[in-house]
Amino acid sequence: MEKIRLQKYMAMCGVASRRKSEEFITKGYVTVNGVVVKELGFKVDMTLDKVTYKNKIIKLEENKVYIIINKPKGYVTSLNDQFNRPIVTDLLKNKISERIYPIGRLDYHTTGLLILTNDGELTNKITHPKNHVTKTYEVLVRGKISKFELNNLRTGVNIGGYVTKPAVIEITNTTAKTTTIKITISEGKNRQVRKMIESVGHSVIELNRASIGEMKIGQLKIGEFRYLTKQEVKYLK
Ligand code: URA
Repeated sequence: MEKIRLQKYMAMCGVASRRKSEEFITKGYVTVNGVVVKELGFKVDMTLDKVTYKNKIIKLEENKVYIIINKPKGYVTSLNDQFNRPIVTDLLKNKISERIYPIGRLDYHTTGLLILTNDGELTNKITHPKNHVTKTYEVLVRGKISKFELNNLRTGVNIGGYVTKPAVIEITNTTAKTTTIKITISEGKNRQVRKMIESVGHSVIELNRASIGEMKIGQLKIGEFRYLTKQEVKYLK
């Protein structure tokens, strides 16, 4: 088994983010095989070394991995794309050894919050319609959205035979040619936001997912990823 940095291992075990784990290491909270390690470059063997944090053994929970990434444009979230376009997991290549996959989907041109995991239960929890997990998107729309259109979007519009459930929408900016909105929906039909905007006669210029439930993209830059903390996983579960 390949050795990895202690702070990375701690993050994978859900102790905290890598940066926070570094803090814990330098504070002397972490031992490896019974010895306090304060050195940040220290590497551990995930299968052989015994690591403790505040005197408690930490381990990978059945190797469940939870990643949050700020998806760039130009990547698909499906793992086998018929057009051979770049796949979002390409951004994690050689960085994550487990086979993980995206929870739900984001379009090729959509940016923003995407969670990847190998935890099928969590995937089910977030994507199952009965759980009504909310997703918030920031949308730059071509043209001015009228009050009437806004009201329709809020109460429900027909997108190819399906009437959308009530959505929470806030206009955050307007210019002569565009409207920026924040829309929160509790369902996840294919290309739902784009179809909703099209159903009222506009089109989407930019689409960015800002949050899933209370989980926000935060400081992550486009293309960056990190492990979720234990608290975040607990919240999502
Ligand atoms: N709605 C869309 O239309 N596209 C996405 O990528 C996500 C939500």
